[in-house]
Amino acid sequence: MFLGHYGLALAAKSVAPKTSLGTTVLAAEFADALWPLFLILGWERVVISPGITRMTPLDFVSYPWLHSLLMDLLWAAGFAAVYFATKRYKAGAIVVFIGVLSHWVLDWASHRPDMPLTPWATQKYGLGLWNSVGGTVAVEALMFIGGLAIYLSRTNAKDRTGSVALWGLIALLVIIWAGAVFGPPPPSVNALKYSTLALWLTVPWGYWIDRHRFSVASLQTAKENRKS
Ligand SMILES: [Zn+2]
Repeated sequence: MFLGHYGLALAAKSVAPKTSLGTTVLAAEFADALWPLFLILGWERVVISPGITRMTPLDFVSYPWLHSLLMDLLWAAGFAAVYFATKRYKAGAIVVFIGVLSHWVLDWASHRPDMPLTPWATQKYGLGLWNSVGGTVAVEALMFIGGLAIYLSRTNAKDRTGSVALWGLIALLVIIWAGAVFGPPPPSVNALKYSTLALWLTVPWGYWIDRHRFSVASLQTAKENRKS
């Protein structure tokens, strides 16, 4: 799953309007953002094996620290605790918690059975949506477009940057996704490790977008306050 995670990050605006898109992107993509670092450090392992699923040639041989349910629960709790300690915003902390954890659930739906419940478990799970091109495209597109529609209905651009930056990110994500899905497999695991690091760009990009958009909810409260 790729676009679906971003769809949820966008949709989070409806629950926690004060939480920046940068934070919700980091939460929803937390496991995948740290993944290239864990590969470089040798803590997790992936093999390129074309045909292993119809959508991705990646065989996630060892995935204990970022894609096991138990670890994702702990990462979610840790991220939410740090967020709450610094922002004191309960809705945001809940959204961050669900965001990190949702990553495991969405990946579990997409992956072939390669996702463990605990780092030491040998039994692995996955519903294998990735074995269906049509199914994957439909689910990812629906979640991404749905999330974007919610984000657009909850925020307005303050200036031109607020629109350009948002649509730039949307275009970039669609291009990356289409390249990964329909393009050739990565030439090597090394190339994969270092190119996946580029995902980190989307986090500051999310903060940048958010600074140039305002929440429609806050505008309504301001209007109501002015009336009363
Ligand atoms: Zn993942």
